[in-house]
Amino acid sequence: MGKEGKTDLSSRDDLMGKIVALCKRRGFIFQSSEIYGGINGFWDYGPLGVELKRNLKNIWWEDVVRKRDDIVGLDAAIIMNPKVWEASGHVGGFSDPMVDCNKCKARFRADRIFTVIGRVGDDVIVSAGVEADSDLSARDKVLIEANSKTRHKIDHYRDQIKWVMFSADKVPPNEKALCPLCEGELTEARKFNLMFKTSIGAMEDSSSVAYLRPETAQGIFCNYKNVLDTSRVRPPFGIAQIGKAFRNEINPRNFTFRSREFEQMEIEFFCHESDADKWYEYWRDARYKWYIDLGLTSSRLRLRDHEKEELAHYAASCADIEYDFPFGISELEGVANRTDYDLKKHQEHSGKDMTYFDDQTKERYIPYVIEPSGGVDRAVLAFICEAYTEDEAPNDKGKMQKRVLMKFHPRLAPIKVAVFPLVKKEGMPEAARKIYDDVLASGLTCFYDEKGAIGRRYRRQDEAGTPFCVTVDGQTFEDQTVTIRDRDSLKQDRIAADKVVEYVRERIG
Ligand code: ATP
Repeated sequence: MGKEGKTDLSSRDDLMGKIVALCKRRGFIFQSSEIYGGINGFWDYGPLGVELKRNLKNIWWEDVVRKRDDIVGLDAAIIMNPKVWEASGHVGGFSDPMVDCNKCKARFRADRIFTVIGRVGDDVIVSAGVEADSDLSARDKVLIEANSKTRHKIDHYRDQIKWVMFSADKVPPNEKALCPLCEGELTEARKFNLMFKTSIGAMEDSSSVAYLRPETAQGIFCNYKNVLDTSRVRPPFGIAQIGKAFRNEINPRNFTFRSREFEQMEIEFFCHESDADKWYEYWRDARYKWYIDLGLTSSRLRLRDHEKEELAHYAASCADIEYDFPFGISELEGVANRTDYDLKKHQEHSGKDMTYFDDQTKERYIPYVIEPSGGVDRAVLAFICEAYTEDEAPNDKGKMQKRVLMKFHPRLAPIKVAVFPLVKKEGMPEAARKIYDDVLASGLTCFYDEKGAIGRRYRRQDEAGTPFCVTVDGQTFEDQTVTIRDRDSLKQDRIAADKVVEYVRERIG
């Protein structure tokens, strides 16, 4: 299984398939507009998914806004004056290279499509188009997927093969880029702007054009002066925002990982240039730790500093926090030192002063900005992948049986407690209902279930990721105790019925 660290691609595909199926079956994530055949790149969160996502956003907000005195929150509009996107460079430059297949007409992001050719002299031993993150992983994929005929040839000529690899946006002279689906020839790469356009008001002409924001950051930059004027914060300080962003991605893929509508959680942290390196390191390390503290194991989480050549032209340094998903290692969050680029651009385009005057040092300057920018949906998906576990547990007759459980950190778990009467008689449902009401009144999410065998009820909660299941049984009426079962260890404690909330709160942390 992929979970156990095997890297074999088919078992990882299989694992992703199981995770997607569980998300649908249990109401975490549905395809948007499913009854009409869906719509590519858009997803809906069901009853369990919305709780999970909300918990994640609340924890982020608590940690970066409410528990700190140097960060304040903001909720800016999705549609902004189009001049914002000219100043930020999005109108001119927010594009991906795109290619089409001349044969099957499929469309791809050119920098993710690799053509791999293995030649001995002039003879082509293997040639294939593959979708991959780098030329190295492209070659691995071709080798893994090579059919028996090609495999035999590859093995035979192993030491003599000369490999040529290139992405579809950088095709060398005299080579052709191949389609990963049908091996047809791909067109030349051309630029495709990822911003969704809309129009404002009754008239649809060039003066009514507006864009759905492709990132939440610009709403923060445009309000930086308002925040300084209306609150007590002074550099070094941050503004945080959670909100929807839209990108017309050429190839939405990997479930919710690359969607066309998604949520971001972003901080823009304003500081003096001389402190920028220090704050950059602080945020890079703090954000990495945040994911680990919420249960992403460090063996699957990676902090990758960008090479100088990889940096965006305005960034002084950047690191990606990446997670090893079943479909490969991919970015969860980026932390960048964006220098004073954004505020300078807005000053230039709006004509408004973006400087800050420091009363103490009498210095006037445009602050540098450190930006930790995370994707809510990508984080939710990482926590779902991390939580998915298969193991064995005894059924009602004590026989070991396979079970699927979602090992969410208790703070993230959509339902914190489930309450069951052992049987649907002898006053047990009434006693269980009373505990259920108490737990709900305490503010913890709680689920009541009296249907079916107790073992099946436990299993349903294991799949939902509920950390604690409380059962009322015969003994409850003798000594006012209930059993409380731990999702992961299966250990059952007997505790006083009126201490359930206390017990759970202590363990949620
Ligand atoms: P990628 O290279 O994967 O397209 P990016 O580097 O363009 O991502 P940023 O512009 O840095 O992403 O956006 C910040 C965060 O927003 C990303 O780390 C990611 O978590 C999230 N994000 C960006 N694009 C998408 C998307 N299409 N679907 C879901 N989340 C996204």
